[in-house]
Amino acid sequence: RAALELSGVTKHFPLRRRNTVALDGVDLTVEQGEFVSLLGPSGCGKSTVLRLLAGLEEPTTGRVRVHDRPPAALVNDHRLGIAFQQHALLPWASIADNVALPFRVAGRPVDRARVTELLRLTGLEEFAEARPRQLSGGMRQRAAIARALALNPEVLLLDEPFGSLDAVTRRRLNFELARIWSEQRITTLLVTHDVEEAVLLANRVVVLTGRPGRVRHVEHIDLPRP
Ligand code: ADP
Ligand code: ADP
Repeated sequence: RAALELSGVTKHFPLRRRNTVALDGVDLTVEQGEFVSLLGPSGCGKSTVLRLLAGLEEPTTGRVRVHDRPPAALVNDHRLGIAFQQHALLPWASIADNVALPFRVAGRPVDRARVTELLRLTGLEEFAEARPRQLSGGMRQRAAIARALALNPEVLLLDEPFGSLDAVTRRRLNFELARIWSEQRITTLLVTHDVEEAVLLANRVVVLTGRPGRVRHVEHIDLPRP
């Protein structure tokens, strides 16, 4: 069953007299339970694909569906987990409260057991009461991923979630993400410019090709995964 679907999607950004074509007829389907990495040169429209799926942008033409519905419907139901490079943790709140934030946004009572479980899953249990500035960059990225997972989303959208990290930390978080995915099989779409990371994590790599700002083709590379 298709979890994520773009069909014939174009996205134009009209900017004064220049019209940027960010996406030009993109078809992309991600099946339920897949981990797909989205690769491509800078400016080829990767973030735009994610923003469309997160309901943060509307396509100029074409159709965007998440579980057969417009993305906004799922965002409202909190069935989408999103972690972008700018992880934007609340600086004055503890790590536990940051991870619990989606419960408050959704107007639900905070499930403390779930928060504890997520802190354990991301290796942050000892830092529940710490503030973000007391943690390393890698730990803050892990907290952002824990937060994205808080409400058991059906779909995880990750835009360069390890973008600002050094190579060693990045690789360690890659393995943690791989473990989370193998345990929970959340449909995941990861935007990255790191080919190694893309191949390490995904069961399928999708490459946006064409020159930046004029993307026409989507190439698929299937990777063997148990
Ligand atoms: P990528 O994530 O692959 O680097 P983006 O999706 O961020 O690419 O951008 C694709 C193209 O669309 C780029 O040429 C970028 O400059 C343009 N673009 C993206 N967002 C906007 C925006 N809000 N306004 C104008 N142009 C934009
Ligand atoms: P980095 O991103 O700097 O490589 P990691 O996120 O990989 O760091 O964390 C490695 C380990 O180092 C953590 O699990 C933690 O035990 C310890 N650590 C890192 N920063 C701190 C800190 N500010 N306070 C206490 N322990 C820390």
